Amino acid sequence: MAKTKKTKSGGETRQFEADVSRLLDIVANALYSEKEIFLRELISNAADACDRLRYAAITTPALIEGDSDFRIALTIDKDARTLTIADNGIGMTHDDLANNLGTIARSGTSAFVDQLSGDSKKDVSLIGQFGVGFYSAFMVSDEVEVISRHAEGEEAWRWSSDGKGEFTIEEAAQDSRGTTITIHLKEDETEFTEPYRIRHIVKTYSDHIAVPITLIGGEPPKEDVDGEGDSEEEAAPETINSASAIWTRSRGDVTEQQHKEFYHHISHLGDEPWLTAHFRVEGVIEYAGLLYVPTDRPMDLFHQDRPTKVSLYVKRVFITDNCEELLPRWLRFVRGVVDSEDLPLNVSREMLQNNPVLSKIKTGITTRLLNELKKQAENEPDAYAAFWENFGPVLKEGLYEAFGDREALLELSRFKSTKGDDLTSLKDYVERMKDGQEAIYYITGSEIDTLRMSPQLEGFEARGVEVLLLTDPVDEFWLPMIGAFDEKSFKSVTRGGDDLAAIKSNDADDEAKDEESSGSEDIDRLIAALKVSLGEDVKDVRPSQRLTESAVCLVADDGDMDMNLERMLKAHNQLDAKSPRVLEINPKHALIKQLASTAESDGADSVRDAALLLLDQARILEGETLSDPAAFARRMSSVMQKSLSA
Ligand code: ADP
Repeated sequence: MAKTKKTKSGGETRQFEADVSRLLDIVANALYSEKEIFLRELISNAADACDRLRYAAITTPALIEGDSDFRIALTIDKDARTLTIADNGIGMTHDDLANNLGTIARSGTSAFVDQLSGDSKKDVSLIGQFGVGFYSAFMVSDEVEVISRHAEGEEAWRWSSDGKGEFTIEEAAQDSRGTTITIHLKEDETEFTEPYRIRHIVKTYSDHIAVPITLIGGEPPKEDVDGEGDSEEEAAPETINSASAIWTRSRGDVTEQQHKEFYHHISHLGDEPWLTAHFRVEGVIEYAGLLYVPTDRPMDLFHQDRPTKVSLYVKRVFITDNCEELLPRWLRFVRGVVDSEDLPLNVSREMLQNNPVLSKIKTGITTRLLNELKKQAENEPDAYAAFWENFGPVLKEGLYEAFGDREALLELSRFKSTKGDDLTSLKDYVERMKDGQEAIYYITGSEIDTLRMSPQLEGFEARGVEVLLLTDPVDEFWLPMIGAFDEKSFKSVTRGGDDLAAIKSNDADDEAKDEESSGSEDIDRLIAALKVSLGEDVKDVRPSQRLTESAVCLVADDGDMDMNLERMLKAHNQLDAKSPRVLEINPKHALIKQLASTAESDGADSVRDAALLLLDQARILEGETLSDPAAFARRMSSVMQKSLSA
């Protein structure tokens, strides 16, 4: 709890929270080229305050009786060197002022503080990206004064601070509800008392705000002067923004810059929208939407609650920015607004659940977004690949959650593969499939580089068969649900009996060797000996078609759990038991041939150490830790010793 001191006038002075003080230090020293964004931040807060009261008034109309037209008024006073931003929104109580303007509430802002490096140049550029709300006022002012009266109360309070560690709250007088913020500008910041400058800033950053923003105290702009020339008189308030909800305008009327500013306003993100979908749907149900896909991955994308972030409006009235029913969770990276004409204004949270109108809207916007993504994938494959790197793991959640969208999602999915570094679509993969290849092969794991070196890939490579390399945890979950694409089933290269024999090898010699070695009696005898030595540690020992270079590898038997999934579950303590694996041996490998002849001449016991070493070696190749490293080292030394003394 912050320390409180009483002031002479009966007010109280408190200290800012430590994070706020750090932030203020940086803000105050910002030699920043876009200081003007402070106005964007204050107008955005004022507009939010109007939205919140408009929503509260749906159930309590008395709150806005006699004053139902929301507005934000900017007043400039050159002589006093002040700029005032006044709104008739919901206002703040004494405690609101102390809590909201003394601490850091929004998660985005604390994330911003976490990213501060201490290098003021770098940190200052972060301010521009994040927008740090109210506190940015201290970039241009020596003192900030906030007078506020909550819509439900009679009392007004003044909050004031010079931004240097403390703020004061005392009683004040204000006749009507809302918040008035007076910025006492620093000596060299007089540009913010220039009407043309204010007009320009509002047009640039806040034109999308649906509440009218008026300017008081500025000379009328030239074109408004009708030759009468009485510029001595105080000019009438002049509305300086479009004051219509941006999504209600027609598509051609919204500039890229306006989209950018609206996106910042609604998303609190620092990047620019990569994709914009602006639409109106008319018919059985009517709604408008303005949705954006970010360029960068937002920080909270993998928060375990997976909240969606599109705001719901009803007939231009903000209802909630936390509507679970508006978008599937696997589209939670999308930001923006949906405005429905069919829902009642006094829609409650309970009514939003299982609401038939909302579920139609959800289906509609999901299909629309998937179509937009498809267009991007076709027309801008490189940009789409960057999108996929960011959001593919989230979209893939839809592969197991959204039965109806699976086909579209499979088409949109991109994968790394053994064929080069670029991403591939499944369609392109299928087109490249080899004669005789029936399945879409894949391997899963956590690191792409480790996957590329997996011994299980060798036989596929030798036959020129492409294998998808899957590294997202979610891959383990959708693959078993999906089964097939274009009637080709998905098959793990680390699983079960493979059907590589049906696919011609690139190397004719290999095939000849295949025939000659895989069925030979020596190998059968070696396999029997290995089985005896390894006992319960393996489920089976089999000759392999998937190995060409390595001597051994492990695979999961058909029907058993995939090895990567097992590792993942164990790492999260969700699995105790371990299923024994199948050890595959490469009959063409010199070591295996040698062992086969040793087993034949000296008996099964003679290959016991080698058998255990081979199994451990296969485990190491899988990136697993050995259960008995000491035994491994002992055997290894003894084998090395024998070979050196031979
Ligand atoms: P943010 O707006 O991102 O939450 P700010 O630091 O800009 O962060 O504001 C902190 C909080 O102060 C807001 O969330 C809001 O509750 C309150 N606030 C700021 N300006 C106003 C205003 N003009 N009217 C009512 N509440 C406001």
